[in-house]
Amino acid sequence: AKREGRGLFRFFEKSMEEEIEARRSLEVDIKRGVASGEFRPYFQPLVRLADSSVAGFEVLARWEHPQLGLVMPAVFIGVAEEIGVITDLTLGVLRQACEQSRNWSGDPILSVNVSPVELKEPALALKLLSMLAETRYPPSRIEVEITEDAVMTDIDAARAFLAAVRAAGIRVALDDFGTGYSSLSKLQLLQFDKIKIDRSFVVAAERDAGGRKLINMLVGLGRSLNVETTAEGIETAQSADHLTQKGCTYGQGYYFGHPMPGDEAARLISIPARP
Ligand code: C2E
Ligand code: CA
Ligand code: CA
Ligand code: CA
Repeated sequence: AKREGRGLFRFFEKSMEEEIEARRSLEVDIKRGVASGEFRPYFQPLVRLADSSVAGFEVLARWEHPQLGLVMPAVFIGVAEEIGVITDLTLGVLRQACEQSRNWSGDPILSVNVSPVELKEPALALKLLSMLAETRYPPSRIEVEITEDAVMTDIDAARAFLAAVRAAGIRVALDDFGTGYSSLSKLQLLQFDKIKIDRSFVVAAERDAGGRKLINMLVGLGRSLNVETTAEGIETAQSADHLTQKGCTYGQGYYFGHPMPGDEAARLISIPARP
């Protein structure tokens, strides 16, 4: 038994070393991938619920890894934040998205995620605006998505960033709304153009009447504040119909379309809206 225990200990010891090594090589790999442009934009449609037309796309990063294939954000966003390459990653992906979508019909907007770590960088607004100038992409067709928690982590940094981008005509959305610990009075000061109601509320509304009351309240909150609303994670026609009926402005989710590469998104946007 003693021997076995020791063997087990050695096993865990080795696997911990392996874990550290795997993490270190992931870090090296991410840095290399950012430098060589392996992170690519995927586009998920943002649909106007009133007429089912495509208003724009949320830009979501995907890692086209030379050996592993398509890698999802859950694997690399957190690590990219910790090793200080998240801004390069996000802006690199958005730059490609701007270049690809500049000439799409209907002037769709692109909505980009900015993480709390990026928000702390004082030069972020300047970097974003100069990238848009370089790609000749109109700022009025860009929207920035910031989570409640990011805003609350550093209210002054958030306020400075939001003031700078809004002055340039960029719109600002509050992402994952309802999941954080924000004070509504503080959020209102920041003047968001749109709130994105978190997917968990859409799921709850499918489950029972209580969930529907909650989502109706969030849509109503947007309407009374004169702020547009997007419901995230719509997977069923039933959800889409309910939210349309309650006056939610936009919908996003697998029901309307998965995140897709630029060429597919370009084809989608050329389809005319429902009359
Ligand atoms: P998010 O901003 O909340 O993005 C929405 C996530 O929900 C995306 O996951 C999207 O693919 C997924 N989704 C969309 N519709 C549905 C649906 O109907 N059902 C379900 N179950 N999921 C749906 P994804 O693409 O894996 O991205 C995860 C997170 O990674 C994003 O969450 C965002 O916070 C972050 N992220 C992605 N790209 C970037 C980036 O370029 N920069 C930064 N800073 N963060 C990014
Ligand atoms: Ca988002
Ligand atoms: Ca979200
Ligand atoms: Ca999220």
